[in-house]
Amino acid sequence: MKPVIALVGRPNVGKSTLFNRLTKSRDAIVADFAGLTRDRHYGDGRLGDREYIVVDTGGFEPDSSTGIVKEMAKQTRQAVAEADTVIFVLDVRNGLSGQDQDIARYLRQCNKRVLIAVNKAEGMQDSPLLAEFHELGMGEPHPISAAHGQGIRSLLEAALEGF
Ligand code: GDP
Ligand code: MG
Repeated sequence: MKPVIALVGRPNVGKSTLFNRLTKSRDAIVADFAGLTRDRHYGDGRLGDREYIVVDTGGFEPDSSTGIVKEMAKQTRQAVAEADTVIFVLDVRNGLSGQDQDIARYLRQCNKRVLIAVNKAEGMQDSPLLAEFHELGMGEPHPISAAHGQGIRSLLEAALEGF
């Protein structure tokens, strides 16, 4: 079985940009995985000879009857449940928000390996702005730039460790 990596985080932090960075082909693989449902966005990726699946969340149409927040929470829960590793994506330019703290609280009680990816950190590898994300107590934050392809390999190595 290929490991499944879920990308989780509030809107606009760069999950889909990271998804595109981590995947080569999209959605085609869903049929091969009985446990995966079609209402999330799946992609196939490879690091050397190691293959993995990435799940993006938030790529859904907001449903006015359920409300976007509820639907997002459902997407996140389902993606986390089927993941081997969760990448919690945050935005260094915004700092930690209340919504980030809510997601963190949820992830802490999920018993999954969670990696902290602090996105939009192009050229900020040693920035003091990263310190705030340590306070989540979820391990060393990985500064990345999904848009510019920085820090991606080391994040992915960590995500695939042990698989
Ligand atoms: P999502 O809502 O979490 O899926 O976020 P998107 O991937 O749609 O990105 C939201 C916005 O952030 C877009 O305007 C992206 O171009 C921008 N963005 C994503 N990654 C980066 C990055 O590494 N650096 C910068 N500066 N902007 C980024
Ligand atoms: Mg998105």
